[in-house]
Amino acid sequence: MGNNNRREFLKKSILGISGAALVPGILKGSHSRSASRPIDLPGRILGRTGIKAPLISMGAADATDSKFVTAAYEAGIKLFFSATYYGEGKNEKLVGDGLKGLPRDSFVIGTAVPPDGMDMRTGIFTNGFDSDAYIRKAENSLSRFGLDHVDFFLFPFAGKKETVQNAGVLKAMALLKNQEKTKFLGIASHGDTEEALKAAADAGIYDVAMIGYNYKSANKDSLSSAIDYAAKAGMGIIAMKTTAGAFRNKSGPALNTDAALKWVLQNENIATIVSGMSSVEQLQKNLALISNLKMTEQEMKDLSLTSLEPGLYCRQCKKCIPQCPHNLDIPTIMRSYMYAYGYMNTAQAWHTLAGVDLSGKPCETCQTCNVKCTARFDVKNKILDISRLKEVPKDFIIA
Ligand code: SF4
Ligand code: SF4
Repeated sequence: MGNNNRREFLKKSILGISGAALVPGILKGSHSRSASRPIDLPGRILGRTGIKAPLISMGAADATDSKFVTAAYEAGIKLFFSATYYGEGKNEKLVGDGLKGLPRDSFVIGTAVPPDGMDMRTGIFTNGFDSDAYIRKAENSLSRFGLDHVDFFLFPFAGKKETVQNAGVLKAMALLKNQEKTKFLGIASHGDTEEALKAAADAGIYDVAMIGYNYKSANKDSLSSAIDYAAKAGMGIIAMKTTAGAFRNKSGPALNTDAALKWVLQNENIATIVSGMSSVEQLQKNLALISNLKMTEQEMKDLSLTSLEPGLYCRQCKKCIPQCPHNLDIPTIMRSYMYAYGYMNTAQAWHTLAGVDLSGKPCETCQTCNVKCTARFDVKNKILDISRLKEVPKDFIIA
């Protein structure tokens, strides 16, 4: 990375961080452990779990202060989701600290524990699945939360049927439930979601599914049918990636995110939206919108205007992979790009990119890029841009 590029990158990172850094100031002096019980927000039942989930839940990836988690709880948020790959476990600790000492039956907490050895391009294990190692990872999550159990263990990056129904995966998940380390089980899916939903519903042990779902999703009709199939089988459906990258391109302007969230909730099979909130202002804005889900004409217009723009949201359709002679994991790189420029979450972008092999800098040596992206991304330029993150040391990114 040249000096100018490095300066530019750091400037963007710091700008991204500064918005989040406002949160502790806003929360100063608030929220004692004797917090009153959360207020009752409009919600839907999360499948056979029977849990009534407020329409908005907290995805903690962007949270930088445990006081913000407490503030969200006090504002009525009931479901909190983290993942072991957010800040390499530090986010789980932050969420646990934010909820510490509060009545355990007054909140619901979940985490996604990724398996080792999965090829993200195919969604299949390269050398089998180690149930014991997976259980150890899940137990480590519990200690970071400071809890003896969570409510949901999610198996993330679920796509292919043979992975979702892998005998070792089913055994490990069932064991976690039998040992009361979790109340419920679920999957999280970014790509091949229709296959994942059907496979999870048929497997019978998964209670919930967290899926990427928004107005820019590919094949909306068949995806809605798969959601319906899983919901009819008793699964609770949780939507993520609901703002479709939040920005039209890396330097803005922003999308109408209220309209995007309302669009998701028009589907009554979606019990709740996991929103990556990082400020009180954003929390208040989200809570205000769930009291009236009716979409205005302007909101419909805003969505239809932006639905055809490439934007920042990668549909994770994987159609680009076989077109690239270097077999690059372009969908994962595009997700990293969205985390960096859409959600301004440099740490998540860095972590997402860390697992992608870009050795030899293939895009720099390719004379022509023949990849035709279904979302019309200029994949070569996006890869060249985000791959600079590979040169930033980990301890600089993950505090
Ligand atoms: S980069 Fe384009 S083609 Fe590749 S997965 Fe994303 S949307 Fe599909
Ligand atoms: S420029 Fe990059 S994405 Fe395009 S074909 Fe070459 S290596 Fe693949």
